[in-house]
Amino acid sequence: MNDEPVRIGGVVPLTTVDFPGRLACVIFCQGCPWRCRYCHNPHLQSFRPWKEAKTPSWEEMLVFLEKRQGLLDGVVFSGGEPTFQKDLRRAMTDVRKMGFDVGMHTAAPDFDRFSRVVDLVDWVGIDVKAPFSPKYHEVVGTIVDPDNVRKSLEFLIANGISYQVRTTCHPLLLSGQDLADLQGQLQKMGARPSIIQEFRREGCLDPELLI
Ligand code: SF4
Repeated sequence: MNDEPVRIGGVVPLTTVDFPGRLACVIFCQGCPWRCRYCHNPHLQSFRPWKEAKTPSWEEMLVFLEKRQGLLDGVVFSGGEPTFQKDLRRAMTDVRKMGFDVGMHTAAPDFDRFSRVVDLVDWVGIDVKAPFSPKYHEVVGTIVDPDNVRKSLEFLIANGISYQVRTTCHPLLLSGQDLADLQGQLQKMGARPSIIQEFRREGCLDPELLI
């Protein structure tokens, strides 16, 4: 069990919306270094599995995927934060060997970790949480270096890797001006505009955001 390349916090066996153009399965990785106030998967933040979790081991996941060969196009590693897993590269390699395309949802908290796996990824959904400014800390709930996100996005652009930028918006956290600043920064980088996603109440534990 200690040799698990990824700790699985949940699985969606079939999705048509999480990996553009592909029928996919989503693997939610357990653990995230950030504490976004609007997080709708707070049970995936801790790097330890939550008590009631009955989630598959990596070996069990591979058995499941074997049965889906020819039925699914891809596998998405989501989170939590997949790049903080012990050996995401090994897990992605296993999945690729089975013939699946690989997608990744990431907030890119650490450029080095991101760049260690991204060559194995066919599509990245990258969360850009706020304009690249001190605003980032407020949204993410901890002190971070948003340059990691910026460098990760620049890497995707420079290497022609397919991606989508997404930003979750709650009016208490991001103003219209913040969103305009963000889109302006993305444009200057030559990135696609961010897709603005409305805050979802499900799972959010911050009472102030739920009012
Ligand atoms: S980066 Fe994602 S998983 Fe981590 S706290 Fe923020 S919303 Fe939750």
